[in-house]
Amino acid sequence: MPLYEYYCSDCRSKFELLVSHKHADDVVCTKCHSENVRRMLSLFAARAGNSEGDFDDYAPSMGSCACGDGGCGCH
Ligand SMILES: [Zn+2]
Repeated sequence: MPLYEYYCSDCRSKFELLVSHKHADDVVCTKCHSENVRRMLSLFAARAGNSEGDFDDYAPSMGSCACGDGGCGCH
């Protein structure tokens, strides 16, 4: 069974549940038992979206300054 992550908009808590696809949209909050929950991206999908590629795109801008001694004021 897949592991789903849910968010309860009533008590604003996140929880994970192992549910079958058939019941993936038929869950209640584990804390307040509200039916007002929505399914979020799985943890695996969230990690995949935050890939190292995104970090590599950002890293060059961190080291773009070549002054070396802080003379440009960017340090
Ligand atoms: Zn709740």
